Amino acid sequence: DAVEFVFPEYCECGLQGRLVRLPGEVAYFCEHPECPWQLRRRIEHFASRNAMDIEGMGEKVVDQLVTLGFLKNIASVYELHQFRDKLIELERWGEKKVDNLLEAIEESKKRPLHRLIFGLGIRFIGEGAAKILAKHFKNLDNIMKASKEDLTSIYEIGEKMAESLVRFFTDPKELEIIEKLRAYGVNFEEKEEFVTIGKKLEGLTFVLTGELQSMTRNEAKAKIEQLGGKVSGSVSKKTSFVIAGANPGSKYSDAVKLGIKILNEEEFLELIGEEKPKDNFANKPESNTLFD
Ligand SMILES: [Zn+2]
Repeated sequence: DAVEFVFPEYCECGLQGRLVRLPGEVAYFCEHPECPWQLRRRIEHFASRNAMDIEGMGEKVVDQLVTLGFLKNIASVYELHQFRDKLIELERWGEKKVDNLLEAIEESKKRPLHRLIFGLGIRFIGEGAAKILAKHFKNLDNIMKASKEDLTSIYEIGEKMAESLVRFFTDPKELEIIEKLRAYGVNFEEKEEFVTIGKKLEGLTFVLTGELQSMTRNEAKAKIEQLGGKVSGSVSKKTSFVIAGANPGSKYSDAVKLGIKILNEEEFLELIGEEKPKDNFANKPESNTLFD
């Protein structure tokens, strides 16, 4: 019989660090903060395509630069230019390769905030959660200041994620790295990526109540805003439409009392010009993290 491969639970570093995997990542990394292998994985993750997208900074390069002592943490990526002359002397490098890498590193400072959040490698925070945090808080300082309650008040952010964020942003070692990133000019702000597509819903105010099947409430809000509409938290005479999903709350009865037009999900999708998805309509929205 074939022997089944069992993935080791602990890292080879001998520091008794458990091997874990970041959301959206293939590679495992060691949980021990002083693990030399963890450092490689974290820098690789930081530089990866969906994070800071630093071209030329793959696994082999990170491994070499950590081994030679040029990289000590994710912030030290932005100190590499100080070693330009030494890097050029390395085997299989040379001026062109070094300058291309340094240019890619410089370029990565402009990445939008959600890529930085994802790149920091915070437990339970995958790409989806990073985008939600960036969109909601607009800059890194607001996220760093947020309490567990502030964080869990966001529809998609659960307890585990909130606790992980608070733990990360109160860890002196992480804060030191973040302050270095700031000093090196890494962008901490979310630029407006969600451009208004059209003005189809301009002048209209919407109130959402209950659960929609085809999208989360934040997604519905984003769609309305993309089309020029506004979303309000309470029903008033100024409300144009109340969109009612399953198990609507008191906003539904408020709408009835005030005679506000109520749309069901299908009518809402029709209004925004989206077809009701046929196949996976009953599926719940995808979770934000593959971790755990
Ligand atoms: Zn380890």
